[in-house]
Formats: sequence, structure tokens, C-alpha cells
Amino acid sequence: MDSRPEAEFEFPAWPQFDDAERIGLIRALEQGQWWRMGGSEVDSFEREFAEYHGAPHALAVTNGTHALELGLEVLGVGPGTEVIVPAFTFISSSLAVQRLGAVAVPVDIDPETYCVDVAACAAAISPRTRAIMPVHMAGQIADMDALTKLASDAGVEVIQDAAHAHGARWSGSRVGELGSIAAFSFQNGKLMTAGEGGALLLPDNDLFEAAFLRHSCGRPREDRRYFHRTSGSNYRLNEFSASILRAQLMRLDEQVELRERRWRLLRGLLAEIPGVRPQGRDERCEVNPHYMAMFRLPGWGEDRRNALVDELVARGVPAFAAFRAIYRTDGFWQGPRPDETAEEIAARCPVSEAVSQDCVWLHHRVLLASERTIHAVATLLADLLGSSPR
Ligand SMILES: *Cc1c(COP(=O)(O)O)cnc(C)c1O
Repeated sequence: MDSRPEAEFEFPAWPQFDDAERIGLIRALEQGQWWRMGGSEVDSFEREFAEYHGAPHALAVTNGTHALELGLEVLGVGPGTEVIVPAFTFISSSLAVQRLGAVAVPVDIDPETYCVDVAACAAAISPRTRAIMPVHMAGQIADMDALTKLASDAGVEVIQDAAHAHGARWSGSRVGELGSIAAFSFQNGKLMTAGEGGALLLPDNDLFEAAFLRHSCGRPREDRRYFHRTSGSNYRLNEFSASILRAQLMRLDEQVELRERRWRLLRGLLAEIPGVRPQGRDERCEVNPHYMAMFRLPGWGEDRRNALVDELVARGVPAFAAFRAIYRTDGFWQGPRPDETAEEIAARCPVSEAVSQDCVWLHHRVLLASERTIHAVATLLADLLGSSPR
């Protein structure tokens, strides 16, 4: 008999599906051709995803990490080049750069939005810089006005890591209208998912054609003579995944709207708890789809933060410790890296150091729960902090 106190919490399941996914899967199955070259689901999904985000083109790929690799590659990132990435992000942002033989240069983030700091990007630009990669942390769009201007003044590219930002809007623009490549993930936990999957939005036809070739072994769509025009690999998405993503896309707006309302409530309640500082918002981010509900416990060390996360999980709340700063992982140091030690990078990334140790995030399904549940989560947190030894 289970009588744990977390019975008060009822969070929706994730991922979600209904007859739209079922019908899509059967439709893909009955086409009789299950790869994109034979079927129509990937093509249709690309059209719908591009249109939804206001982009001229979308290219569906195997996952979000591959989307970043491919996007970087068509921008000319390779050996001898550098890409500026936030120090505080999921490791794929830097792994993708390093996989191409380029150096990932971590820079600090903003203490409120947790997105890359523009002044830090400016200071990190070198003659080898090829691109700046903002990550739209938890759905909060990075300062795209300033970053786009900085990049164009410096003659470098922007590539958006939009793995958290399906459906986001910035200053009157959708992600596909911001003028740069954007890379998305459809991994199981992301805001729309087929278990695995990814996509690029591309601002012009040349970039789309280059990415298309490289994602399909360098082979044009119509080729029947094995004439591989570019290098590349196989990053093609399959028809089943695309059929699911078409259904997921139809559900996105409604879920984004609900998460926006729930976050307003939760953010207000969290802000009232002494010692808790919810992720801040740059109001130019007109729509934030809220991939994570993030908050800091400033001054808390990593151990205390981790203990709180464990306690929340024990009480049934899907809570997680925030990303480790990328230069604090072994993986980062196995790729091409800047000519600096971890301690030197840490010294110029104090905010990433602090946030990676004092930040907690809650799964976005928390923001799909009832108002009553949101209140219960905030009350639990206040209780835990009230009883937490100082
Ligand atoms: C999830 C994620 C990725 C990678 O996506 P996958 O589909 O898991 O490869 C890249 N960047 C960020 C910020 C992510 O959260």
C-alpha cells in the first residue's frame, strides 16, 4: 500500500499522444516506403515545421546534435575555426563544434536569463571565430538583436541552438524569421518529440541545398547514378518519426499557451520564497514555450542544491540539477579546445560557475499540471527551504 505524501501531485505524462499519432503511424506504414526518399511524411513535416516558424526551409534530421553539426558544417565550421558557445548548456552545443574539428570557446551567461552574455561573446571573438551559438535556454530567446548585430559587424555567423525553443517568438519574429540557422531537437523530453529526431531551419535556399546534400551522403534528391556531389553522412529522418512529429506540432500552440500561464503563476509563487530566484525573462521574448521551469538558490553550493533535488524527486516532483558547466566535463576536454585551463575558463565565467551549482529545473510537464498542483509544488519548496539548515 502506497501512502507517500506525493499523492497530492498529479503531473501529466510525457510524451503525450492520441489518435493523431496513431493515424500518422499507420499512414506512414501503409505508404509501403519508410524512408524520406520513398514517402511523403518527412517532406510534409518539413513544410509544416518551416511554415510554423516562418522559415523559408526546414530539414529534418536524426537528432538535435546532428542538426547542430550539419548547421555548423554548412556555415564553414571545421579545423582551424572557433565557435563561441555558452559555458552553461547541454553538452551537445560544444560536442557538435568539436566533432567538426573546430574549437568550442565557452563564454559566460546572463545571471537572469541564463542565455549567453553578449559582451562576453564580443570579448571572445578572434580571427578564427566562424560562428556564435546562442542557446535559447529553457525557451527564453537569447538577445538576438544584439547577437545578430555583433555577428554581422564582426563578419561571423549566428547559429541558434533552439533545442528548447519550439514555437518561441522574439520581438515580433518567429525563430525562423531571425535570419540565421536554427537547430531543434525532438528527443523524448523535448517540447515535441518522436523519441529521437531533429531539424534545421535555414534562412535561404543555398544553405538548404548544401544541408540537404550533406544529410543524404552528398547525393542530390534525383540522383540515380551514385554521383555524390559533396561529402556528408546519413542524417536522414525516417517516415514514422516524421508522421509523429506532424501530430506533435499540431498540439504545440495549446501546450505553449498553458505553460506560459502556469509559469506566470509558478514564477510569482517562487519569487515570494526567500532565497529562491526564478529564471528572469527578457520581455522581448514574446512567446516562451518553457522547456524547463528553472530557478536559482543563490549562494547554495552544489551539494546542498543536489540534496534539495533528491528531496523533490523523493516527494514526486520531476526536478533536476542544472547542466554542469561544459568545461567541467571530461568530454569537453577530449575535443579540440581553447588554449586555456578549466580554471582559467572558470575565472572568466563566474555566472556559469554559480548557476551550474545553484540552479534547479523542473520538467515542463509540471507546467501542464493544474493550478492547484502548481501551488502545491511551491508550498513544498517553501517547506523544504524553511526546514533546510542554513
Ligand atoms: C537536447 C539538446 C540538444 C541535443 O539534442 P538531441 O536530439 O538530444 O541530440 C542540443 N542542445 C541543447 C541545448 C539540448 O537541450
